[in-house]
Amino acid sequence: MLPTIFFGHGNPMNAISSNVYADGWRRIGQEIPRPRAILCISAHWFVPETGITVSPAPRTIHDFWGFPEELYQVEYPAPGDPELAQEVQKLLLPLNVVPDISWGLDHGTWSVLRHVYPEADVPVLQLSLDSTRPAAFHYELGRKLAPLRGEGILIAGSGNVIHNLRTYDWSGKRRDPYDWAVRFENRIRELILAGDIQQVVDYQSLGPDAALSVPTPEHFLPLLYVLGSAQPGESIRFPVEGMEGGSISMLSVQVE
Ligand code: ZN
Repeated sequence: MLPTIFFGHGNPMNAISSNVYADGWRRIGQEIPRPRAILCISAHWFVPETGITVSPAPRTIHDFWGFPEELYQVEYPAPGDPELAQEVQKLLLPLNVVPDISWGLDHGTWSVLRHVYPEADVPVLQLSLDSTRPAAFHYELGRKLAPLRGEGILIAGSGNVIHNLRTYDWSGKRRDPYDWAVRFENRIRELILAGDIQQVVDYQSLGPDAALSVPTPEHFLPLLYVLGSAQPGESIRFPVEGMEGGSISMLSVQVE
């Protein structure tokens, strides 16, 4: 059975940077069994339906603005897997999972996978986050996806446990995370390790620290797919850690 992994992706520049995050992602790719395909749930495909990419050759989407030209030149030509897309559609019935040929791989996916699988030789599909649904819906979808792990599919969530761009220090000078960010990340780690996943799903009830850490849901929700596809008694690791600009958590969560 493949692990299920949440990646904290952070700044799109991580795609072309050499840093502890890129190193950690590369190590994961070297250590885990090679997947048959990857099903990625990215913060950056947040639309009013659950869609799945069905193209045999998904395009690389450069969904960010004002970054160096070099980043716009990056292509991640991993193939798709239309047959697996159909399998996922069936697995999630009676939910209507909409086949999508217009999306591709957004930077939530490729900025990380470029390091995990630099050869882009593992097929990748994306599943969208339905923006109209509550957190519990996303956790439940994760549970339904769990059997894929036994078929060589890597379920990957890509977002950030803490993602506040309003408080983020764009000057790059800030070294220390905000106190509320440290508290919230610790709380989430403790809850995951204690198996109290219901509290993670109900993150909005965790007070002011949660409101500051998760001002909008899209970067947090991919974590719920990973926790949903975890099985009781599995081991949990945080293979990549760090806080950027005071208020972006780079925490990765690996369950196996
Ligand atoms: Zn992002």
